[in-house]
Amino acid sequence: TQRLAGKVAVITGGASGIGLATAKRFAAEGATVVIGDLDETAGQAAAALVGGLFVKVNVTDQEEVNHLFDTAFDTYGSVDVAFNNAGISPPNDDSIETTELPAWQNVQDVNLKSVYLCCRAALRHMVRQGSGSIINTASFVAVLGSATSQISYTASKGGVLAMSRELGVQFARQGIRVNALCPGPVNTPLLQELFAKDPARAARRLVHIPVGRFAEPEELAAAVAFLASDDSSFMTGSTFLVDGGISSA
Ligand code: NAD
Repeated sequence: TQRLAGKVAVITGGASGIGLATAKRFAAEGATVVIGDLDETAGQAAAALVGGLFVKVNVTDQEEVNHLFDTAFDTYGSVDVAFNNAGISPPNDDSIETTELPAWQNVQDVNLKSVYLCCRAALRHMVRQGSGSIINTASFVAVLGSATSQISYTASKGGVLAMSRELGVQFARQGIRVNALCPGPVNTPLLQELFAKDPARAARRLVHIPVGRFAEPEELAAAVAFLASDDSSFMTGSTFLVDGGISSA
């Protein structure tokens, strides 16, 4: 289907994992895609693959984030969808006993401050247009806790979830929808790196997933395309769990 025909979509973290799969899905559904990412090589390749534009951006930098959304608008004439998805997972032990302030702050900057900056930049265009769909990537851990003592990561994703709910309510009457995507564990480089450093963690995690496997990025992309499209026109401020049943187990 071409549910996103005529829509301009900005995707942060679009060079890899969930963002890359979503870029492909968005393009297949007719959207014009603008990829913002720190990784220039992978970002250029992704943009070429989907026939879109790449803008190098560090999502923690206000000016660079504004430049990303303004470039999308200046090039294509609107900003209809913002998939604010770039994020990191702390590479090592993220318990409160071992996480020092600089590491904590870095995770808040990349995962939470970035979403604040991207929402502000996107909303400037969407409010003027009187329409738009924002999807912020949180995580199932924002709802449930991680069960693996991830203090900085879980806090950052809780912030993303709360902010998405707040904005969903605030902008509902202006034709702008804001929803939080809460993935369960997804088979991406982010997860593979975590498991490579701690192989037992994969097995521990699998026990808690009722469907008995990790998600593939394409399964998240399908959910994001739904949230981006008018098929989800009555959804805003929602906590959209795509978690293989984890939250019900
Ligand atoms: P990934 O590592 O495959 O992709 C993340 C992308 O974000 C990369 O292309 C990276 O270059 C980019 N990025 C990182 N820091 C950046 C910065 N400062 N500025 C610009 N770009 C930056 O990861 P993924 O698994 O696809 O994760 C995407 C999102 O989904 C993240 O927010 C992550 O926390 C979240 N998430 C992932 C899982 C999972 O199991 N993989 C589960 C729940 C939530």
